[in-house]
Amino acid sequence: MTSHRIAVIPGDGIGREVVPAARAVLDAVAARHALGLDYVEFDWSCAGYLREGAMMPPDGLDLLRPFDAIFLGAVGDPRVADHVSLWGLLIPIRRAFRQYVNLRPARLFPGVEGPLRTDAPIDLVVVRENVEGEYSEIGGRLSRGFPDEMAVQESVFTRPGVTRIVDYALALAANRSGRLVSATKSNGIVHTMPFWDEVVAERAENSVVEVTREHIDALCAKVVLDPGRFDVIVGSNLFGDILSDLAAAVTGSIGMAPSANLNPEREFPSMFEPVHGSAPDIAGRGVANPIGAIWSAAMMLDHLGHPGAAAEIVGAIAATLAEGRVRTPDLGGEATTGEFTDAVVAALG
Ligand code: ATP
Ligand code: MG
Repeated sequence: MTSHRIAVIPGDGIGREVVPAARAVLDAVAARHALGLDYVEFDWSCAGYLREGAMMPPDGLDLLRPFDAIFLGAVGDPRVADHVSLWGLLIPIRRAFRQYVNLRPARLFPGVEGPLRTDAPIDLVVVRENVEGEYSEIGGRLSRGFPDEMAVQESVFTRPGVTRIVDYALALAANRSGRLVSATKSNGIVHTMPFWDEVVAERAENSVVEVTREHIDALCAKVVLDPGRFDVIVGSNLFGDILSDLAAAVTGSIGMAPSANLNPEREFPSMFEPVHGSAPDIAGRGVANPIGAIWSAAMMLDHLGHPGAAAEIVGAIAATLAEGRVRTPDLGGEATTGEFTDAVVAALG
């Protein structure tokens, strides 16, 4: 029996509701595939920050390091500024464990009504650079409060950093449609984006993948107007962030969007989490849509070397949605998180 050690961080709000849902589906599929999944829970959260003054203990990263994967619910609290959970937990984990790929699939499942006036299939993946780029700490503020006040924020793009994310996206595209779109803005951002484009062109030269470049503004418009034409899109930290939220929005509910923070070399654990936050407005009522978490769990199994088990989970989500009887309120239904989860487990076969 193959077994894996999983660090689980339920976090805050609906994170604590969707994580048990994902675990129930994982356990059911693990039993069918003779997989051993050993979970260790870490109660790190914004609620914990309010009690103890830290998102995680000082040796938090050392505690996570030996695990095969990290599964996160959501961290967030209206009383705690977003940068606290970001810089106190998410970003340290992503950077320390070299999780430089943020993978965000977006699919319009048959039976789900998206916000667009089209029911053309949408099935795309955004590959977002996850550790460098625009989200740097380099910069500062000058002349605060004076008429000439200014703020400077530097972006950091390195050759190894751009090369590895582009190579990852090329390999993914080669396994899918053979097409890759690279998000850029080299007409307005005159140093980093031309550099990004150059590396993309160099790496594409030795690849079978057909690569096109799109400026981020036009690309956003095209994703809204005709999402069905896209397969794999690669973008910097900022552009990937924007594109993946947009892609999730055109496929229905944010509650359905999964994500993986990958260390493709497997030197360190990768982290899997639904895209949504703690959703304080619905937390505690048992009505959160668990699809984002369950699908993230499928991505975790895929990364751990069990693509068959992963595909079974995604198939069970699709079958439950297509059947249409059991849905959470965000998709127009009345089912609870637990009822939807039970339906997915039953659909596993
Ligand atoms: P945080 O501060 O943790 O980011 P947030 O409220 O800013 O929380 P989300 O948690 O992503 O951001 O919530 C955005 C909106 O989407 C809320 O109205 C929330 O209720 C809804 N939502 C998010 N996730 C789900 C889900 N899994 N099921 C149903 N609705 C959801
Ligand atoms: Mg928020």
